[in-house]
Amino acid sequence: MAKITAKSYDILVQEEESILSNLLSSYKSPVLVLVDENTQTHCLPIFQKILGDFPICEIKSGEEYKSLETCKLVWDAMLSNKLDRQSLLVNLGGGVIGDLGGFCASTYMRGVDFIQIPTTLLSQVDASVGGKLGVDRQGLKNMIGVFANPQMVWVNLDLLNTLPEQQLVSGFAEVVKHGLIADIDLWNQLSKISKVSEVDDWSRIISRSIDIKNRVVMEDPFEKGLRKILNHGHTIGHAIETLSFKSETPLLHGHAIAAGMIMENFISYKRGNLQYSSFLDITEYILKIFGKATLSFPNEISEVVVHDKKNRGGMLRFSLIPEIGKCEYDCEVSMDEVNAAIAHYQSL
Ligand code: NAD
Repeated sequence: MAKITAKSYDILVQEEESILSNLLSSYKSPVLVLVDENTQTHCLPIFQKILGDFPICEIKSGEEYKSLETCKLVWDAMLSNKLDRQSLLVNLGGGVIGDLGGFCASTYMRGVDFIQIPTTLLSQVDASVGGKLGVDRQGLKNMIGVFANPQMVWVNLDLLNTLPEQQLVSGFAEVVKHGLIADIDLWNQLSKISKVSEVDDWSRIISRSIDIKNRVVMEDPFEKGLRKILNHGHTIGHAIETLSFKSETPLLHGHAIAAGMIMENFISYKRGNLQYSSFLDITEYILKIFGKATLSFPNEISEVVVHDKKNRGGMLRFSLIPEIGKCEYDCEVSMDEVNAAIAHYQSL
């Protein structure tokens, strides 16, 4: 259906299975497939039907297992399955498997090949593209990691059939973000969707979304400049997500980012950058798709925003859209503007 060429590898969306099986059979050294308990149940059978049996390493699902402790289990499995420098690790799972498995592969014997087979919407349109790999440490996300690229990203839409609906909705936030920051046509296409479960043509949406992320990361692989636009909605969104983990009802990533996008676009609108009608369209659409998030500890959001990695010299730095389909990065924002945006969201 679509072949997207990245720096040194291809991202294949619903392409001929033979391309992947040919790549796998070119490995004469052991191949290991990394799964979690959910992707073992739901995704491994699809993989095996297409590609046959390979040894597997199963880890527990969930962000709390995206840790160095889990890496040790994976490295040990790579050793016991006799993976050598010509071997391959296949990461069959969501963003946790992709980030952790890619990191394990890139560090085992100073680096062996890996393939990403993303099985969540979030990992198909975002996590599997761009070469950021790693694990969390001391409760802080992605503190230990490397940049490295896979041999291939294989996107199979059938894998999404078993994904819980809320996970699908959460991943959709990154698709919406891609439209807002870089592609008004994608945004216009998305605007016609009123419920994520009603989408019947995922392949076009996913291909376009991957293409946007891929173009950005190819131009700025190490986030020196342009790549920062991918953080739209994430400066406040990450703070909301982090605080929600302290509550009884943690938010999924995408739902926190959706709230963050409304707040960050309020800042753009108040500055006179984003037109009021566009701001209203964005707000209404996000509320329709994601609902209104319950903010845990709203008074602490601005304190967490202060610690965002993108800030420099004591100034808050945001990626803001002046109009739909365009994004500017390193926009200096004051704490008063952040607080006004939070208050606005609360009033909706
Ligand atoms: P995840 O990997 O935890 O998957 C979510 C849940 O869905 C898990 O319980 C998983 O077992 C289950 N699951 C996965 N595929 C399934 C399927 N097809 N059917 C049924 N269940 C399935 O979470 P995620 O949202 O995919 O990824 C989040 C992670 O991605 C975070 O750690 C985040 O930091 C990372 N991320 C990385 C990048 C990057 O550039 N590297 C970008 C965005 C996010």
